[in-house]
Amino acid sequence: MNRRAMIKLGGMAALGAGFGGCASRTRAGITTSNAAVTLAPVNVAWERIIRTTVGLRPYRPSGFVLRAEKLDSRLLIHNYGHGGGGMSLSWGCGQRAAEMALDSTGPRRAAVIGCGAVGLAAARQLQRRGFDVTIYTAAVPPDTTSNMSLAGFTPTSAVVALDGRTPAWDAQFQGVVEIAYRQLQLLVGRDYGVSWLYNYSPIDDLRIAAGTNTLMPAHLQGEREVLEPGAHPLPTKYAARRSELRIEPSIYLDAMLRDVAQFGGRVVIRRFADPRELLSLEEPVIVNCTGLGARELFGDQELIPLKGQLTVLVPQPEVDYATTGAGRAGSADLPSAGLHMMPRADGIVLGGTRERDVWTLEPNEDELKRVVEGHREFFTAMGSVPSTRRTGRSAAGTRSSSSAPPRFR
Ligand SMILES: Cc1cc2nc3c(=O)[nH]c(=O)nc-3n(C[C@H](O)[C@H](O)[C@H](O)COP(=O)(O)OP(=O)(O)OC[C@H]3O[C@@H](n4cnc5c(N)ncnc54)[C@H](O)[C@@H]3O)c2cc1C
Repeated sequence: MNRRAMIKLGGMAALGAGFGGCASRTRAGITTSNAAVTLAPVNVAWERIIRTTVGLRPYRPSGFVLRAEKLDSRLLIHNYGHGGGGMSLSWGCGQRAAEMALDSTGPRRAAVIGCGAVGLAAARQLQRRGFDVTIYTAAVPPDTTSNMSLAGFTPTSAVVALDGRTPAWDAQFQGVVEIAYRQLQLLVGRDYGVSWLYNYSPIDDLRIAAGTNTLMPAHLQGEREVLEPGAHPLPTKYAARRSELRIEPSIYLDAMLRDVAQFGGRVVIRRFADPRELLSLEEPVIVNCTGLGARELFGDQELIPLKGQLTVLVPQPEVDYATTGAGRAGSADLPSAGLHMMPRADGIVLGGTRERDVWTLEPNEDELKRVVEGHREFFTAMGSVPSTRRTGRSAAGTRSSSSAPPRFR
């Protein structure tokens, strides 16, 4: 959004204060609303933690790799390095990979290397185009990085560095994100664990609500609503609200695995240490979906881990919204790493960490404290918003009770 549009928004918000109970008004892609919203606070307490998980996002500053090359007589298609957006982008990149596979003149048989979200979606896109698919992989769900993701529809999250972008890469991205967004919408429902929910962000400065994402096509950014003071329980002046797609990894990845099998696919547990080992495969098409594993297997030194960790609380069915931006800022290295809360059937998931080039799968205790305490402060403040600012359901009995972080065991 440009400065003029932001000024318009500021004027619009100020105007809104004079219209009690007024319906939303839209201008410049942002709507303001003073219709009251009630949100059940998350009960953040150390004794409610049920697990902390760690995953290494496969990050490449110049973006994911999606291209074909020859490997002896085979067609080798690379599809890896999706950073913090692999759950979101997998169907789009899978479709492009399957289209490249159609260039192979051999029989329609394909080997997919890797069984995370990217490999599974590539396998399904190949099957849809008539390929007989075998997935060869070192690990299957629940032991993939994909199982460790939050996972909202965040296709631009840690996917490319600002100075790593080229017009060609941007164009490829914009094509795949469009496909991916449409495909995930078609999977909404219990079977795949894909659903829509509202995501709320606390804001005091309306210019933050007006921020733009220059990589994402404008028509996929959706409408952002600003809830005016008094219309929301967040401990800030305003709350920004948008609709978000949520993917519950354990349900989704198991469903994808079932679909691959249902369409005749096979899974073989096998780790490849060297690209030459791929030549022992019979399939004329090989799709490399090894995520971070591509660094070692194909010597891609640009690929580095962005370590992320999630702390999961006992589920709270009454929490039916997500939040982004609670708590304190991240590390000096990545000061903008805001905190996220995502409610799922397998627990209330708290995240918001990115440790660059850190390879350990051990939880970082300082980050754990930052994420838990940041959310605890946020939801405690939300629970204590005066009743005059709240409507409906009371927060009583759902406030956090403990402030003592335990040591790791
Ligand atoms: C904390 C956290 C939060 C996240 N949140 C989101 C989010 O909200 N939205 C989103 O879109 N994304 C999110 N991500 C990112 C997302 O998880 C990754 O982009 C995605 O999982 C990458 O999928 P993948 O299939 O490429 O990799 P993986 O899931 O790692 O799968 C790679 C597969 O390749 C196999 N493999 C690797 N090397 C070899 C080898 N040499 N031989 C044989 N097999 C091999 C592995 O066993 C595995 O099966 C998050 C990640 C983390 C850690």
